Amino acid sequence: MTTTTHNSTAATLDLDAVRAEFPILQQQVHGKPLIYLDSAATTQKPQCVIDAVRAYYECDNANVHRGVHTLSQRATDGYELARDKVRSLLNAKDRAEIVFTRGTTEAINLVAQAWGRTNLREGDEILITHMEHHSNIVPWQLICEQTGAKLKVAPVTDTGELDLGGFKSLLSDRTKLVACVHVSNALGTINPVETLTRLAHDAGAVMLIDGAQATPHLKIDVQAIGCDFYACSAHKMYGPTGIGALYGRRELLELMPPYQGGGEMIKSVTFEKTIYNDLPHKFEAGTPNIAGAIGFGAAVDFLNRIGLDRIAQHERELLDHGMSLLDQVEGLTQIGRAKEKAGAMSFILEGMHPYDVAPILDYAGLAVRDGHHCTQPLMERFGVTATLRASLGVYNRREDLDALIEAIERARKMLV
Ligand code: PLP
Repeated sequence: MTTTTHNSTAATLDLDAVRAEFPILQQQVHGKPLIYLDSAATTQKPQCVIDAVRAYYECDNANVHRGVHTLSQRATDGYELARDKVRSLLNAKDRAEIVFTRGTTEAINLVAQAWGRTNLREGDEILITHMEHHSNIVPWQLICEQTGAKLKVAPVTDTGELDLGGFKSLLSDRTKLVACVHVSNALGTINPVETLTRLAHDAGAVMLIDGAQATPHLKIDVQAIGCDFYACSAHKMYGPTGIGALYGRRELLELMPPYQGGGEMIKSVTFEKTIYNDLPHKFEAGTPNIAGAIGFGAAVDFLNRIGLDRIAQHERELLDHGMSLLDQVEGLTQIGRAKEKAGAMSFILEGMHPYDVAPILDYAGLAVRDGHHCTQPLMERFGVTATLRASLGVYNRREDLDALIEAIERARKMLV
């Protein structure tokens, strides 16, 4: 599979060198070395990304696409170069298919509104899964309310995998769009997105993939997957917050009306009629996050330099180590035991609420997430209101997971 292979021949990572690139990791929290295990929420930023944003503001800051002066041209070049880098990372055919957004959430809302308003009618169906992040649920609920379309939800098995039989049984000629997470932020499950796309297309539906948690861990090839839309967020990929991308197949983007109106997205405006700009600018109304896009480009360079195959291999080894350590903790249940998994380990502890454990871990210098991870329906499916989640980035070490287990054992002595 193009998106999930872990290249066993990849040279191993020089972890000390990688860690040295992240200034934030060199600090202590509560007098203990920081151990960051919350990359699924947001990744830390390497110096090259920080430098790119800073250099833009120090040397090139100007508005894009508007001025002929040197700074404006430099800003435009930097912004558009970042688009080329994202195109190449996702292997989109055409740079016009990469729309900069504020992130995954905005990318999904853009499709829900711009595609949904013109293509959905009463009686149509949108199929999602039980493991979606709220950002791949609520935008569809909104468009359903507006159009009379219905939301259908494919079930998840006890191991946290998509129930493929259940998914297939919900597909019909009423299904107009399938929206599915590539890698679950709460469970780490990697969904078989090529297969799901094929099934969606066979049913005549359009396929959107929420790639927020896949792009930092896996090599993505939107052409090989065959999907129509793919959404991602730079801040989960070692880039800045407030910027992300929507990949959309050109034929579909061409037919979609703008998402928002304003400057940048027009060719000409009169009070009688506005002619919209060409792709992708038609979907980028207003002054964009120029510094963010440039930082996003630097983050793509970082991912390419380290190599997504090496990142995937390193994180897979960490995940195996972490999961086997967690299995040895008395009273601990892991939620999400999919065969294909990346990035995240979710668990609950008997007799201890995640909200009580997380501060104890924080006191040991460990940044671990507690809560519903914006997946409340999924939590309900597993009969919990919250879990603890340790999630991985390229900078994590085996020792980080050893320290997690030690801190959990300490918490157990304190709380049980
Ligand atoms: N989808 C998934 C699977 C996520 O994990 C997240 C963020 O955690 C999002 C969507 C939303 O991403 P953002 O907040 O960057 O728009």
